[in-house]
Amino acid sequence: MKRVFSSHNLQLVHHLRNLLAAEGIRAVVRNEMLSSAMGELPPAECQAELWIVDVADAWRAEEILAPRPADGPDWTCACGERSGPQFTHCWRCGAYRPG
Ligand SMILES: [Zn+2]
Repeated sequence: MKRVFSSHNLQLVHHLRNLLAAEGIRAVVRNEMLSSAMGELPPAECQAELWIVDVADAWRAEEILAPRPADGPDWTCACGERSGPQFTHCWRCGAYRPG
């Protein structure tokens, strides 16, 4: 298990979990209930947290969760893998995006 994101915005945390799920990455939301304890606990401890189940997915999860530099066309790696514009690496072979 590895925490990859936390926020007071529970909807956002769930949205990101869905994004990961769409990529086949299992993730769970923690501290969901704590956000209702806000005011009694230090705010930083009340954030909902997104944890990935398999640490091996961490690198890919961070790519997915990273802010998109720009929208653009999909790109195709030398290995033939097609990736969305938000990816700076090929997830299959690890090569950097050309250009
Ligand atoms: Zn590749």
